[in-house]
Amino acid sequence: MRIEKETGIAACYGQAAMLPLWAAMTALTGILLLGGVAALAIGSYFFWPPRPAQEEVFYHFQCPACGRKLRFRARRAGKQGICPRCRKRCTYPKSSASAQAQPGGS
Ligand SMILES: [Zn+2]
Repeated sequence: MRIEKETGIAACYGQAAMLPLWAAMTALTGILLLGGVAALAIGSYFFWPPRPAQEEVFYHFQCPACGRKLRFRARRAGKQGICPRCRKRCTYPKSSASAQAQPGGS
């Protein structure tokens, strides 16, 4: 009877000693799992190909040779282009404001 009681207590102590370790392991696994998911989410957010550049800015200006209104990409500002109408070289203005004002623009 006495031995049984002792083993029972020992078993109880053993479980109690194992519990914090198990809880720590579970917590660690959970944190690692969450961290992995978070890293994946952040990674996919940063490395996901950006939305197609449909919102490209276009500037308007008037050809100095023929007066035709031309449209050009903002990234080409300051570069040389050829007027599609008169085939003359023209330099795209740095900004739409320095060029002919767009009708209806503020
Ligand atoms: Zn022209």
